[in-house]
Amino acid sequence: MTEAPGPDNRRDVVILGSGGSGLTAAIAAADAGARVQVFEKHDLIGGTTAWSGGMIWIPNNHHEQALGVEDSREAALEYLMSLSHDMIEPKLAEAFLDGGPMMVRYLEENTPVRFRPIPDFPDYHAEHPGGLPGGGRSLDCPLFSFHELGPWADRVIRSPYSPSPHLSIYDSNIGQARPQPPNMAEMERRAANDERGSGQALIGRLLRACLDRGVEPKTGRRATDLILEDGVVKGVRLETPDGPAEVRADAVILATGGFEWSEAFRRAFLRGPMTHPISIQTNTGDGLRMAMRAGASLGNMREAWWMPVIEVPREEVSTGVNIMAGQRSLPRSIMVNREGRRFTNEAANYNAFGAAFHEQDVSAFEYRNLPCWLLFDQGYVDLYGFGAIRGAPGAPPPQWVTAAPTLAELASRLGIPADQLQASVERWNAQVDAGHDADFRRGQGAHDLWWGDPAYRGDVRATLGRLEKGPFFAVEVKSGALGTRGGPSTDENANVLDLDGQPIGGLYAAGNVMASPLGMTYGGPGGTIAPGMVFGFLAGRHAAGATGREGPCSSAR
Ligand SMILES: Cc1cc2nc3c(=O)[nH]c(=O)nc-3n(C[C@H](O)[C@H](O)[C@H](O)COP(=O)(O)OP(=O)(O)OC[C@H]3O[C@@H](n4cnc5c(N)ncnc54)[C@H](O)[C@@H]3O)c2cc1C
Repeated sequence: MTEAPGPDNRRDVVILGSGGSGLTAAIAAADAGARVQVFEKHDLIGGTTAWSGGMIWIPNNHHEQALGVEDSREAALEYLMSLSHDMIEPKLAEAFLDGGPMMVRYLEENTPVRFRPIPDFPDYHAEHPGGLPGGGRSLDCPLFSFHELGPWADRVIRSPYSPSPHLSIYDSNIGQARPQPPNMAEMERRAANDERGSGQALIGRLLRACLDRGVEPKTGRRATDLILEDGVVKGVRLETPDGPAEVRADAVILATGGFEWSEAFRRAFLRGPMTHPISIQTNTGDGLRMAMRAGASLGNMREAWWMPVIEVPREEVSTGVNIMAGQRSLPRSIMVNREGRRFTNEAANYNAFGAAFHEQDVSAFEYRNLPCWLLFDQGYVDLYGFGAIRGAPGAPPPQWVTAAPTLAELASRLGIPADQLQASVERWNAQVDAGHDADFRRGQGAHDLWWGDPAYRGDVRATLGRLEKGPFFAVEVKSGALGTRGGPSTDENANVLDLDGQPIGGLYAAGNVMASPLGMTYGGPGGTIAPGMVFGFLAGRHAAGATGREGPCSSAR
């Protein structure tokens, strides 16, 4: 069975995956004159992008300029290269930095996609040269009414991590340690118009743009193999509800997400334990497998977008896990390992935090910080709550958290040395009193202060606070990831390269399936979707035959 319509004089571009990278590629390819088909393995559209906060990190974007934030391509390049650890190829970083502002402007001028700057949200390593402690590089989409999608509204996957699709990133714990959702009247207004925020708004807008171009993603279709002729990709084989199908095309763009849900690939490639991926479960490395079969060279395979997570009851979050972003930064909390010792800056950005899970004790031949726990006191629960529990004086913690009236009893329940735990807490409290974490520099960067208690934003009290009021609580923190970020290496047009560094005809990759152009770096809020969309944009236009840096030509529209 063949799913493609008959040939005509336009290039046929097939896109695999309907997350942010895939849908952006579809828009770019369609506007550059191609006939486009999008195939999605899941029964619903949007991938992990639809589950996300929907932020994108685009240095030197035009909204920044309008806000009066000083930024430049040079500053951003200096910043990225200062974080590279020799993992970033400068020409790919430059392609990202050139393509990003162009893509934002293009989408805003030619589609319903709109962005707005997120005020004050700092870069994740803002103290590095070229970093912006006052933010400006992160954008998200304003609320989008899904009524505009008509019957397609129900075909977008909803996020298990947000209590409501009507919340923007600012309103939810994905974007703030202490979110303040809008009042009930505003929530009712949003619900009545089905106005959705965060990743829903991003995917909704991108999908609307695709539909406007006659591109209707076909779901329930899993790509399994590329059709290769003389080393050139000529199409793809799919599993469909009607059986196997072949689709011939001039180019195939892999936008199939990472390999985090393949145990075998995780074991083969990742640099250390990663037991709790939190992305969509259809991201099983299909694109990686297809690229390897086509002879692609691979890059960045050890890396993921690391994220500490906790296990929670499925009634709270249907995936059974939740992210630990802001909760680690709040005062009156520390993290300890099985020795009962603090081991890192708990408030560090989640991606950098991943390295703490991979630290080894060479004598014991063990991962030093696995297992580990977040510890907090009743004062923390009073102020901030935890999980589904809202902060209130004397509020109970969730029942699934380990609780004890004293630190010694808590240590005994966790099976860690009580005297060392007591000593760790005493040392922490002394450092809080001194206003300085001499051990791990918590609270010394703009990131830590932003993610802490907003009542003290900009002050060390946002994250430094004594642990002293029993009962005490602990929850085990696991090594998780938003997705992996290694895969086929590409050039600046997202064209996949072979083992000799030559482009494989007709094969492109964008998003978490590709060797990340940003190496192990997470530049700031929105640091994963941004390179995915930018390389999707570059892939789409190149696959459709457009050249130059001016953005997709509009011949098809
Ligand atoms: C709670 C949460 C919040 C986040 N917030 C942000 C944020 O605000 N900003 C940010 O930058 N990042 C964020 N992330 C991370 C971000 O969502 C992902 O890194 C990003 O969306 C990946 O985009 P993608 O297009 O590569 O993959 P995805 O969006 O996951 O899309 C891949 C798609 O490919 C499909 N697919 C897989 N295999 C096949 C196949 N064989 N054939 C056809 N289709 C296939 C999948 O089903 C999936 O729909 C967040 C993640 C989570 C979980």
